[in-house]
Amino acid sequence: MAEVQTAIMADAVACALITGASKGIGRAIALQLSLDHNLHILLNYASDTAAATETMMAIKEAGGSAELLPFRVHHKEEVQQALDTWQAEHPTDYIHVLINNAGITKDGLLMWMPESDWDEVIAVSLKGMFYLTQYVLRDMLLKRSGRIVNIASLSGVKGMPGQTNYSAAKGGMIAATKALAQEIAKRKVTVNAVAPGFIETDMIKGLDTRQFLPLIPMKRLGKTEEVAHLVSFLVSDKASYITGEVIHVNGGLYS
Ligand code: NAP
Repeated sequence: MAEVQTAIMADAVACALITGASKGIGRAIALQLSLDHNLHILLNYASDTAAATETMMAIKEAGGSAELLPFRVHHKEEVQQALDTWQAEHPTDYIHVLINNAGITKDGLLMWMPESDWDEVIAVSLKGMFYLTQYVLRDMLLKRSGRIVNIASLSGVKGMPGQTNYSAAKGGMIAATKALAQEIAKRKVTVNAVAPGFIETDMIKGLDTRQFLPLIPMKRLGKTEEVAHLVSFLVSDKASYITGEVIHVNGGLYS
């Protein structure tokens, strides 16, 4: 009976939901997954509709299919409402891939950090991951297939001064990835984390590159595509025996 209920309908469309996909790393992942896999792309973002629309158009121009799904990942009601509405409008379609990519920074020394900066950074990464993952996981487990990739950070591995909130958020994502991987491995759903170093996006626009470029063994920033290619591999069938792993994309910068 359960098998009948969870069988994938012949006309069902497999989808990839990427949070924070209007720009930066999320945009590159959305484009890459559309190019490499036969997936309909659900583009989540918080507020920049112009950028998200541009990403959607780029996917369509390359021959893929995509739609916008705006909501703030750290607001449970928004997450539920957006996904409930989407599922009601597409009853046979299903989310095969979830990329928890949305993230923000609010840097400052812990000594002076407003509590709201601590809370918001942690909420977007950790509550966002929790709400989205819990929402899609049941169906993945029933179907016995699915891929989850969490976009963490070097900051969550080594800790960065001035980023205690962000390091805590990303370190938490990594620990949750390892724990969840063990909970769900039996059902053939994998969950992995990717830990980028310094990648050329809006997030690091304000940083003085002269300070940290000498520290990077490759002496350059990473490109968003260099993160996206790894995510695309983790989502593929070729990565079916990899779970609970944290993979660095950092040009050799580990410490
Ligand atoms: P970005 O260019 O600033 O883009 C951030 C994306 O997240 C945008 O699409 C933004 O939407 C979305 N977003 C922000 N808050 C959100 C929320 N509450 N709900 C839904 N979407 C939200 O950032 P990025 O550099 O591409 O970073 C992407 C991920 O990689 C983040 O998790 C970041 O921590 C991680 N990372 C980045 C670097 C780096 O060097 N860039 C390094 C390590 C890890 P709007 O456009 O609508 O605001």
